Amino acid sequence: MNNAPTANKNNPIGTTPADAWSAAKGYAGVDEQLVESLTGWRRHIHRNPELSYKEFQTTDYIESELNKLGFEVRRFEFGSGLTCDIPAAADGSSETDVVALRADIDALPMEETTGYDFSSTNEGVCHSCGHDAHAAMLLGAATLLAKTPPPRPVRLIFQPAEETMPGGAVDCVQEGAVEGVDRIIALHCDPHRVVGDVGVHAGAITSSNAKLEVTLQASGGHTARPHETGDIVYALSTVATGVAQVVDRRIDPRSGTVLTWGSIMAGAGAPNVIPAKGTLAGTVRSASRDTWVELPEVIPPAIRAIAEPYGVEVDVNYVQGVPPVVNDDACAEIAGRAVTDVLGEQGVGEAVQSSGGEDFGWYTEEIPGVYLRLGVWNGESPETDLHHPAFAMDERALVIGAAVFDRFARLDR
Ligand SMILES: [Zn+2]
Ligand SMILES: [Zn+2]
Repeated sequence: MNNAPTANKNNPIGTTPADAWSAAKGYAGVDEQLVESLTGWRRHIHRNPELSYKEFQTTDYIESELNKLGFEVRRFEFGSGLTCDIPAAADGSSETDVVALRADIDALPMEETTGYDFSSTNEGVCHSCGHDAHAAMLLGAATLLAKTPPPRPVRLIFQPAEETMPGGAVDCVQEGAVEGVDRIIALHCDPHRVVGDVGVHAGAITSSNAKLEVTLQASGGHTARPHETGDIVYALSTVATGVAQVVDRRIDPRSGTVLTWGSIMAGAGAPNVIPAKGTLAGTVRSASRDTWVELPEVIPPAIRAIAEPYGVEVDVNYVQGVPPVVNDDACAEIAGRAVTDVLGEQGVGEAVQSSGGEDFGWYTEEIPGVYLRLGVWNGESPETDLHHPAFAMDERALVIGAAVFDRFARLDR
């Protein structure tokens, strides 16, 4: 699979989204009705986006669509999202080799600017990460699996709250979402890759993250007399620049670790007042799973050691985020075969580890899995990134995703 072309973004091999679309439409079980349903599901969910852990109507909708296919669901006890177990075909099938297919279903707190006639009707909330498409593709896979029962049991996971830290996957794992499951797959829309190019990669594919908040407090006072209080602004600045230096010296430089402050707040604008409180907030990301484990042991003590000599009270809140998603070699190989079966060899693109986080990493901590990047760019329009208010996708990618899910579930190890 890795001898496949590196990125098809500039179309070096001549595949067009139209070619890829017609290849996927020729996949077993796909018909015009499914193609139409995929668009319908995606647009319904797109029009009615819901924030993390509040995907109640989305869950109701998914449940009713699965019921129409004759499947029962199990809703997660913590509120939203569900799993759906599809039994293996009656004969000649394995009862033990269970495959899970996962889609996330939450939207983001931002205002949509796509101008679609199916734009968000929920003010200040929109599907700018493509999770509407993920849910639709998994419903598409359910339709294919209902038509021709799979050779092994399949579990569908419609997962809430991917956009939170440490992510809804933690709750799903706690509720047994992957208990008894042998391998798992997820797809994520990639707007920098053309329709028909699916990025497959063995090894780490996303990075870890964590959130860091530092609060410094002292009595406050006159800038003429910093020695009579704790100088919050000075101490904050020292922490802001000092911690990165500690990370540089204490953490393996090959780990791709970066600490970035996104917010620093202190004072009310007066040049001659030492404030009583200040805060720093940022994120820590790492390409290495070992470093992800190590960082909470290194960073909070370093912050306390840097700030305390200035006579300030130090409070550090280190919120551990997701581990990197590490794609299992065997699962990546199966996924490469699945993509080839749907699109031909030219559909298998290379993918590199991104610095972004993804809570699918909680599943790959438990069981082998693979996370693919699904091209959704039409190759012509300006590219819009994920989490952009005008994020757009070419809906021809939906049938490709549904078919790849289905094929992965049918292939033997
Ligand atoms: Zn996102
Ligand atoms: Zn996402």
